[in-house]
Amino acid sequence: MKITNKHGVPQTFVTLASKNSYTKGASQYSVTELMSPPKIKRLRDKHDEEMEQDVSDMLWQLMGSALHNVLENGKTPNHLTEERLFIDVDGVVVSGQIDLQHDTPEGVLITDYKFTSAWAFMQNKKEWEEQLNVYKWLVESVKRKKVSGLFICAMIRDYSKHDARETYPKAPIQMLEVPMWDAVQAETYVRERLDLHRNSKISHHLGDDLMDCTPEERWMSETVYAVKKKGRKTAIKLYSDLNEAQERATKENGYVEERLGEPRRCTGNFCGVSQWCKQYQDELSTRTAEA
Ligand code: SF4
Repeated sequence: MKITNKHGVPQTFVTLASKNSYTKGASQYSVTELMSPPKIKRLRDKHDEEMEQDVSDMLWQLMGSALHNVLENGKTPNHLTEERLFIDVDGVVVSGQIDLQHDTPEGVLITDYKFTSAWAFMQNKKEWEEQLNVYKWLVESVKRKKVSGLFICAMIRDYSKHDARETYPKAPIQMLEVPMWDAVQAETYVRERLDLHRNSKISHHLGDDLMDCTPEERWMSETVYAVKKKGRKTAIKLYSDLNEAQERATKENGYVEERLGEPRRCTGNFCGVSQWCKQYQDELSTRTAEA
């Protein structure tokens, strides 16, 4: 991937961003690639040389890297930082870089640092649980050490001390304990993900369409129904249930406007490959034709 510098920021940023774009060592899959949709992996591999990202759009990735470098300087006895572990699964090498391993008498405590939003923190993200449990499996399989705890150390980018919601983070840096899986569950997960990627690779070579990304993988927002009234610009209320919206519209002598969910990973090109993605491009053409 080519890193561009359209806004003339110092070259140091570009150097750092270029280093970060290739970090998985001598493995075929990093843990994050394994977890990501097969379509994204295939398209990224295929279009790696054509892909471009501007360094100014990588603020939070760069902040994440900077933070890792700073935390390296805060070395503490029994804390091991940034270790990359490799494992061979039936001839395919998978690797994962673990932010922090804290050796305790009860076992290793694994922590992953995340620069994230308060909203994401409150979602109890499934992928955080998956990622940390694959790390656990790596430590137990490769280092033969027991893991006794998994944690996300979330750094909340948009923290507000005035937000009183019950699940809102209590501080700008907040620890979140993640449920642990046993080794069977983790290995099954890794093998299932590898199978998905393997099958996608084979069908791609055979010229078949790549398996579609799911709504969840596309970060699809919910379709909502806005109850509106003539002469009023804003909606009276948004509903996720059409019947409820229609009932309210009848009462208000108004009407219902459907606001379709948006695949935010595609529309924001957070996968980096939306321009080569048939699934998304076909959808855009259909919408244009219908408009
Ligand atoms: S554009 Fe959307 S559907 Fe296509 S690869 Fe990216 S996330 Fe998946």
